[in-house]
Amino acid sequence: MQQRMRELSGHNYIANEWQLSTGAMTDLIDPATEEIVGQFANATKSEVDLAVAYANAAQKQWWAMSALDRATALHQVADRMIELSVETGECLTREMGKPFRESNWEGGAAASSFRYYAEIARHEQGRVAGPAIAGQLHMVIKEPVGTVVSIVPYNFPLLLAGWQVAAALAAGNAVIIKPSEITSLTLLYSMQAFDHLPSGLVQVLTGGAQTGQDLVGHESTHAIAFTGSVKAAQAVAATAALRFKPALIEASGNDAFIVMPSADIDTAARGAAFAAFLNCGQVCTSAERFYVHEDVYEEFVLKLAQHAQNLRVGSGLELVDIGPMSSKRELERFEKIVTRAIEQGAQIVCGGNRSTNFDTGWFYEPTVLKVSHDMEVMHGECFGPLAPICKVSSFEQAIAFTNDSQLGLGANIYTTDLEETFRAVNEIETGIVWVNTPLNDNDAIPFGGRKFTGAGRELGAEGLEIFRNSKMVMIAPTALADPEWFPYPDDDTYLAVNP
Ligand code: NAD
Repeated sequence: MQQRMRELSGHNYIANEWQLSTGAMTDLIDPATEEIVGQFANATKSEVDLAVAYANAAQKQWWAMSALDRATALHQVADRMIELSVETGECLTREMGKPFRESNWEGGAAASSFRYYAEIARHEQGRVAGPAIAGQLHMVIKEPVGTVVSIVPYNFPLLLAGWQVAAALAAGNAVIIKPSEITSLTLLYSMQAFDHLPSGLVQVLTGGAQTGQDLVGHESTHAIAFTGSVKAAQAVAATAALRFKPALIEASGNDAFIVMPSADIDTAARGAAFAAFLNCGQVCTSAERFYVHEDVYEEFVLKLAQHAQNLRVGSGLELVDIGPMSSKRELERFEKIVTRAIEQGAQIVCGGNRSTNFDTGWFYEPTVLKVSHDMEVMHGECFGPLAPICKVSSFEQAIAFTNDSQLGLGANIYTTDLEETFRAVNEIETGIVWVNTPLNDNDAIPFGGRKFTGAGRELGAEGLEIFRNSKMVMIAPTALADPEWFPYPDDDTYLAVNP
C-alpha cells in the first residue's frame, strides 16, 4: 500500500484515469509516525475546466440509461467498495490515523448508502397531481441538476463522500469530489470502485480551499454538497449563492450528552466513552459537552474516567482503540482549547496532556474535565479526545443548556423515563436526537443539523432532493381551445359584474 500511495501522489482522477497534476504539491504526513506517505496536488484551473467538461458529458450518458441499469451500476459500486475496504482502510489510517477497524468499516458503510440509493431512486421519479383542468395529466418530473461538487472533510472521507456521491448519482448526476487535503490519496484510491461508470461520471480533484472555490464558482457545475467546518461552509455557501446554486451544508457540531438518574450508569458511561473518544473525538456528532444530573454526577464522572484511562492509544495499524489526532495543526488547536478550559477553572479528572508513550506522532490522552456551562469549552466544537462534564440540577436545566448553542447537529440523552424521552425528542433544537443509542445513523432517514450546523439533509428520501430539479409538466390529450383564452366574455367586464 505504501508503494501504491506514492504512485497516486500528486494525481487527480479525471475521465476514469489517474492523471498527474501540474499543480503545486504538498507532503502528506502519517500522524502516527510523522513520515511522509505521499503528496497531494493543488488542481489547476485548467484541470478543473477539463474535469467539469468530462463530468457534463458523462452525466448525459448516465441519464440516458434506464433507471434499472443505473441501479445495477450503483450496486456494483457497493460490491467494489466492500472488496476494496481493507486497502482503502489501510490507506486512510496511514493518512489520518484512525484505527484500522474504523477505516475498514467506512468502505462497507459507504457501500450501504449506494445500495439504498440504487433502489430508492428508481422507485419514483416524480409524482402525478390531481389535474386542475379536467382530462389533463399534471405532474412533476424530477430531473438531475447536472454536475454536483462534493467537498468533504478528513474525518470520514469514504463514508461522507459515499453518502453524497450515492445520492447525487442515483438522482442522475455526475460528481466531482474535492477531498480534504489530508485524505486525498484515500479518495483517489477508492476510484477503482467507479471505473465501470461512464468516463468522467465520478472524478476526484485534489487541493485546498482554492480548488474547492474554483469548483463551486464554476459556471458549469450545478449543485454543491459540502461537509466541513462552519467557516469553510460559509465561504462555500456565499460562492454558491452568487450563482443561485443549491448547496447542501453539513457543518460543525457541538452535541450534548445528557445523563439522567433513571439511566443505567455503567452503560451510559461506556456509551459516553464511545461518543466522546471515537475517532479521537474527531466526529461531527461527537459528544462534546456532558450534562449529568447531580444525583449521579460523581458516579458517572468516575466511571467515564475509568473508561477513558483504559483506552488503548497508539498507531491505528496496531491493536488500539484510539489513534493520533489527524495533524499537528489539529493537535495544537485542540491543546489550546484544553488549556483555556483549565484557565477558566476546569478541573482535570484524567488526561490533559499529549501522550508521552511515543517518540513520534500527534497523540493526546483521552481527557475528562469537570466544567461549568459558562466555560468557552462548552460553546464551540473542540473536535478532539475530550469529555467536559457539567453538573445539572434538573431535566429542565439540561435541556436549556443543550439548546444554548449556536450549533444544532445532534444530542444524546440516557434515560429510561418515558416523559423525559418524549420531552427531549420534542424540546431539543437539533437535527438528530438519540435516546440511549449514541451516534448511530441509518441510510433511510435524513441526517443533518440546524442553526450554524447547516442547511439541507443527506440520506433518506430527503437526501435526493438537493440533487434534483423539479419540472412542472401539463399535458392535454387534444389541442382544444381553452375557455380562459381571448376574447374575454362581455359578462366578465367590470361594468357587467358591478353595474
Ligand atoms: P474543513 O472545513 O477544514 O475542510 C472541509 C473541506 O472543505 C476540505 O475539503 C477543505 O479543503 C474544504 N475547504 C476549506 N475551506 C474552503 C473554502 N474556503 N472553499 C471551499 N472549500 C474549502 O473541515 P475539516 O477540518 O476537514 O473537518 C472537520 C469539520 O467538519 C468539523 O467542523 C466537523 O464538525 C465537520 N463535519 C461535519 C459533518 C456533518 O455532517 N455535519 C460531518 C463530518 C465533519
